[in-house]
Amino acid sequence: MSDNDNIFKKIMRGEIPSAKVYEDDDVYAFNDISPVAPTHILIIPKAPIDGLHELTDHDAELAGKLLVCASKLAKKLGLESHGYRCVINTGAEAGQSVPHLHLHLLAGRDFQWPPG
Ligand code: 5GP
Repeated sequence: MSDNDNIFKKIMRGEIPSAKVYEDDDVYAFNDISPVAPTHILIIPKAPIDGLHELTDHDAELAGKLLVCASKLAKKLGLESHGYRCVINTGAEAGQSVPHLHLHLLAGRDFQWPPG
C-alpha cells in the first residue's frame, strides 16, 4: 500500500523543490536535503513502491534500473576512484523514514563497516 502524501511523491509532483541530478521515465534522482557525506544522492523509482520489501519478480527490471542509475551517476561524478556506498534502508529498525523505495548513493568520505 502506498502513501500518496509522502515527501518523495510531493517532490516528484513538483510540489516540493529538489535538486535533481537525473530523471528518466522510471527513475528520479536528487540531492538529499540533509547530506551525511559530501555526495549524498537519493535514487527513487517513479512507481509507488513503499520499500524494498514490496518488490516482486515483476519489479526486477525497475530494481535493476535503480542500480544502473547509481553506477552511471558514480561514473559521471567521478566517484569510482575513491569508492562509494549504496544503501537501501528498509523498515523502521533499519532507519527508513520515508515510505517510498530509495537508494542512497554516498561518497566523498571514509565509511565504516559494519554500518552503525
Ligand atoms: P531514509 O532515512 O528513509 O533511508 O532516507 C530518507 C532520506 O530522505 C533522508 O536522508 C532525508 O535527509 C531525506 N529527505 C527527507 N526529506 C527530504 C526532502 O524534503 N528533500 C530531500 N531532498 N531529501 C529529503
